[in-house]
Amino acid sequence: MRVLAVGAHPDDLEILCGGTLARFVREGHEVVMCHASLGDRGSFVHTSDEVTGIRGAEARRAAEIAGAEYATLGFSDGEILASDPDQRRAVVDLVRETCPDVIVTHFHGDYMSDHNEISKLVFDCSFHATLPLFETRKPHHGKVTPILYMETVMGLGFSPTEFVDVTETIETKVAMLEAHTSQLEWLRDHDGVDIVEQMRTTTRFRGQQCGVAYAEGFVPCLTWLRPTTQRLLP
Ligand SMILES: [Zn+2]
Repeated sequence: MRVLAVGAHPDDLEILCGGTLARFVREGHEVVMCHASLGDRGSFVHTSDEVTGIRGAEARRAAEIAGAEYATLGFSDGEILASDPDQRRAVVDLVRETCPDVIVTHFHGDYMSDHNEISKLVFDCSFHATLPLFETRKPHHGKVTPILYMETVMGLGFSPTEFVDVTETIETKVAMLEAHTSQLEWLRDHDGVDIVEQMRTTTRFRGQQCGVAYAEGFVPCLTWLRPTTQRLLP
């Protein structure tokens, strides 16, 4: 399978579904890790241009650790907007270029607008990507792709219906997240959290919910054309 994972910022996928992405790769699937925004506003010490370069390099490194392909949409932090025609075309093209069999993205009730807006963009545009007359420079995608929604941050307002055992990939997940050195500092200074510790805690919590050491939770999109009889998760 080809798996397209789309996070708002360059660290969300690592926090919320990194263990599952690493498992997809281990099991022979092709994974594309795409961050929608450049992470260009998450710093107290660097300019936007500087932090864009730093965070791009960190995200590339994290994808490399997982064995995934790297992509970004190049949006700006705080400006992801599902009604923006240019952003809609960019997400249509992302789907057309990556030809996914399954898409993983944010749940639509998360703590900040970029997460919720990219969730809506992915839902809307993975449908529009199949319309031949929605013209971009790319050929239309052949199917309305199933979507799996990953956790909210800290799991608030999110009840998983499917679990993935990530006990064997938790240390890969940690290494992926630790590749985001500048974000570990930013989240400590801006939000007062040790994000690696927080990620371990939530992954352990989901593990205890399903009887393994570490797990990640998901909810499938169940609107018409999305459900399947196959289990898509590892
Ligand atoms: Zn984020």
